[in-house]
Amino acid sequence: MAFSPVDPAAFEASRRRTGLLLLPLAAMAIAGAWLLSYVNHSLNPVDRWFLPLLSLEAVGLTVLLYFRRLGVREVEASALGGLGLYQLLMLLYLVVSGEVYRDGFGATSLWYPLIFPLAFLVLPREQALRLSVAYYLLGLVIGLAGMALGAVPTLKALNSFVQFYVVCVAYLVLLDIYARVREQYFVMRHMAHTDPLTGLANRRAGRERLEHALGRAQPGRVAVLLADLDHFKEVNDRYGHPVGDQVLREVAFRLDQELREGDLLVRWGGEEFLILAQGTDLEQAQHLAQRLGRAVQDEPVVGTIGVSLSFGVAVFRPGDSAETLVERADRALYRAKHLGRRRVELEA
Ligand code: GH3
Ligand code: MG
Ligand code: MG
Repeated sequence: MAFSPVDPAAFEASRRRTGLLLLPLAAMAIAGAWLLSYVNHSLNPVDRWFLPLLSLEAVGLTVLLYFRRLGVREVEASALGGLGLYQLLMLLYLVVSGEVYRDGFGATSLWYPLIFPLAFLVLPREQALRLSVAYYLLGLVIGLAGMALGAVPTLKALNSFVQFYVVCVAYLVLLDIYARVREQYFVMRHMAHTDPLTGLANRRAGRERLEHALGRAQPGRVAVLLADLDHFKEVNDRYGHPVGDQVLREVAFRLDQELREGDLLVRWGGEEFLILAQGTDLEQAQHLAQRLGRAVQDEPVVGTIGVSLSFGVAVFRPGDSAETLVERADRALYRAKHLGRRRVELEA
């Protein structure tokens, strides 16, 4: 299990909640806009037919999302597609009716570029950029086609025309810069929470997860295991630091193999690992530690080099903080070292 500082399931769930909130709101807003224009006698043919469809699409997507018939990605893509199609049809209508060459873009200049931030919000950067550029160029071709076919814009329309196509490019460039920064942010975030040698969660990430877990833990049901390699300095001294690194990687791998989905393995220090085991009492944690020890000790880890582990185990008590809990595990580990190493000691 490669460690990921962003919990994908939680991320997905939050996108789903956002969709379930925004889609019904959009459906109502679109229906409201349609009604107002209807009463106002200002419905053009595209609005007349397409707005109700768009509103229905939003309702349909809400239902499909709610009953999990569609994934978040599919829903986002469908909403984006519906909205983009509507904007393109509207632009086509403005061109065909000649309105855009008489009065300029009007409200379309506000709504047409909405696709850009939405695309960058829901899609990976390169995909969002490709889609946005295609959408922009299509709009540009539609706008120019009318003039190529003989429409002569008024000065006012020409002004609106130029501003519209220029500001769209500005939005695109800015969004792409923003998306690049966002990509860098995720890279940095990953670096800040991951140990480069083993790929495990580092101490910072481990601490955050531990505090989060303790916030909703039942006493006696969350265990912390501290594991420290025995006489590891000798491995380094005898075989060299690079081999020591290899040993650390292999030990991390073996420990990780033994853990369940919800458990977290942390590189807590140089040759010290912390295991956060949720839903685990002291006795189960003891067995887990023994199993982890065997996984490392029973066979040489690199070449003929064998290593052993000492464990200190503690479970969450009422009033515990991350510090007090780890401190008890640490005291137990200290005892394991003093009692001869290659053993598991429980908190007093
Ligand atoms: P004990 O059984 O008491 O834990 O003995 P020990 O030798 O394991 O403990 P000590 O704390 O004296 O030494 C820890 C060693 O771990 C010393 C340090 O060089 C080594 N170490 C820490 N981090 C790394 C690392 O990233 N790579 C390598 N190769 N060695 C490391
Ligand atoms: Mg050690
Ligand atoms: Mg140590």
